[in-house]
Amino acid sequence: MPRNTKATIHLDAIIANYQLAVQAAPNSENIAVIKADAYGHGSVRVAQALEPYVPAFAVAIFEEAVVLREAGIRKPLLVLQGINDSSELEFAAANTIWPMVENDEQAKLIGKTPLKSALKVWLKIDTGMNRLGLNDVNLLAVINRLKRCSWVDENIVLSSHLACASDLTNVMTNYQLQKFSQLTKKLNLSTSVANSAALLGFPDARMNWNRPGIMLYGLSPFDDINPQDKLLKPAMTFSSSVIAIREVKKGEDVGYGSFWQANKPSIIATIAVGYADGYPRHAANGTPLLVAGQKAYLAGRVSMDMITADISQCTNIQIGDPVELWGKTINANEIARCAQTIGYQLLTSVSQRVPRQYD
Ligand code: PLP
Repeated sequence: MPRNTKATIHLDAIIANYQLAVQAAPNSENIAVIKADAYGHGSVRVAQALEPYVPAFAVAIFEEAVVLREAGIRKPLLVLQGINDSSELEFAAANTIWPMVENDEQAKLIGKTPLKSALKVWLKIDTGMNRLGLNDVNLLAVINRLKRCSWVDENIVLSSHLACASDLTNVMTNYQLQKFSQLTKKLNLSTSVANSAALLGFPDARMNWNRPGIMLYGLSPFDDINPQDKLLKPAMTFSSSVIAIREVKKGEDVGYGSFWQANKPSIIATIAVGYADGYPRHAANGTPLLVAGQKAYLAGRVSMDMITADISQCTNIQIGDPVELWGKTINANEIARCAQTIGYQLLTSVSQRVPRQYD
């Protein structure tokens, strides 16, 4: 019996979701964030699909940019965590890769690495997240240092990242936007702060450049239900199949740690997916899944290679029947909530052993 565990990636959904970002922010350049292998969807395939539409892509680290260049992707690539090595800077300048500069050291490295092609740089400003970025003390010094380098493109982009945009009621976002505006308004450079949540939910955050990520993959960026996210189309269907079916009597246990106990005679399906495939280990009893198109519920601990589900409410389930773990019907954010995590983590955790198929 084949395992049939796979992630089907709907590239048309990714294109449609990108177009929703453009509709929400038609006056901005909307960069597609495809770091972490395009949130688990396959960065090369996603970049190939989006390349006709986007002005640039963003990745987290230099190595991710190299993979895309080697695969023939030609649009500019922003490296969100910056570049810390002079040979990488040379490669970046020659290949339209844009480093984010977030500290003095990265600016100094650019200063002492004369380059043959112009290097476009972005600056990250810390407006309250306290993770990475320049502050009101060193921002001007870094800009002046970079402006003295003839090889640095004068169109520097000023950016920041928002800590709480997923919560539309959180005052932190307006605080960060105000701080960003104070620090940047006299500098006369282009700007960027919006991730998906800010792009959809905070009109003031739409600037020259936006950086949507999760919305491209069809998941809501918001903590609570929001009408804006209804139009997003989930881009990954994570699926598997039933490999065993058994009846359990009232009072019998299922799986590791006897985590689930039948409170009535029940039917249990064993499904060929586990935490080694990326199904979340902490998914609770009752987490929904779709067995042959019918709602069923996780019953028992997630194992490395298998899960078990109560299919007592379903009719006529057979070994080999398909199971949707998340996708178009069961939203990955719903599963994430059942596992006390976020959809981002589920999408990026689908492991290498799971084949990706593209439709
Ligand atoms: N910009 C930066 C700097 C990021 O780190 C990320 C992702 O974490 C994004 C944009 C995209 O965020 P989201 O996926 O929430 O749209």
